[in-house]
Amino acid sequence: GAPLKLSVQAHPYAGSRRLILSRDVTAMEQAEAMRRDFVANVSHEIRTPLTVLAGFVETMQTLALEPGERARYLQLMSQQAQRMQTLVNDLLALSRLEGSPPPGVGEWLPLRTLVAPCEEEARSLSRVLAPQRPHELVFAPLPALEVSGSPGELQSAISNLLSNAVRYTPPGGSIDIKWQRRPDGRLELAVRDSGPGIAPEHLLRLTERFYRVDRSRSRETGGTGLGLAIVKHVVQRHGAELKIESTPGAGSTFSIMLPASRIRGDVSAGAGARP
Ligand code: ADP
Repeated sequence: GAPLKLSVQAHPYAGSRRLILSRDVTAMEQAEAMRRDFVANVSHEIRTPLTVLAGFVETMQTLALEPGERARYLQLMSQQAQRMQTLVNDLLALSRLEGSPPPGVGEWLPLRTLVAPCEEEARSLSRVLAPQRPHELVFAPLPALEVSGSPGELQSAISNLLSNAVRYTPPGGSIDIKWQRRPDGRLELAVRDSGPGIAPEHLLRLTERFYRVDRSRSRETGGTGLGLAIVKHVVQRHGAELKIESTPGAGSTFSIMLPASRIRGDVSAGAGARP
């Protein structure tokens, strides 16, 4: 609080102890500012659909609507409620990720079992967002490997990258999904899209909570602004690495590199690696 702050009238010749204190306070102030921003963002994100929802309720209470109109209003109200639900789910997911110890080696799961539901989800999202001209989703063959960690967390990271590729790539665009064992034993997932790409000045901030380049596209397609923050946490907790490469106008590639310690049983290499 205040007393600590007062003691940091940083003097150019301040001793080392004071310098350390001032650095701590700066970090504390930054953390506090981030917390304030976060609360303001959450409030704003909830207030918008809530206002729309309340407006529809009021209209329905005061106007005698025709059945068709009534159905349309209810549909719009349900959309707003869903938006709030998605937001709250993502917030809870994020707070669980931030507040729990990282997953141990835990379960070993065939890559196929882990990835299949995510692929299906991406296909159906594409059918919803681009019913006339679905995306060309190309899933390269999966290596016969097993992966360890938290299946739920890993699936949410994979799903987030796939759904972003679908959501930000215009109908008919192509999305390539590749899994590759690297020479150093790591396993790389690369999701390449032919969407709008991301300008360099945004790249470093993409994983911040609620940071969005294209606010309206995010909203229209059901985004919460929390997806990549969730991915970042999952990746860190699994000792993995997230890489984002993008050329504005020519698409983006989001990659996750899982550490070798979480991969086993490469039977696809054909080099007699079978145990
Ligand atoms: P959102 O719910 O808004 O998509 P994310 O955290 O998943 O939130 O992504 C943050 C922002 O990064 C998005 O709002 C979007 O501007 C940008 N983004 C994410 N993925 C892509 C992509 N594949 N192509 C272009 N922009 C993307």
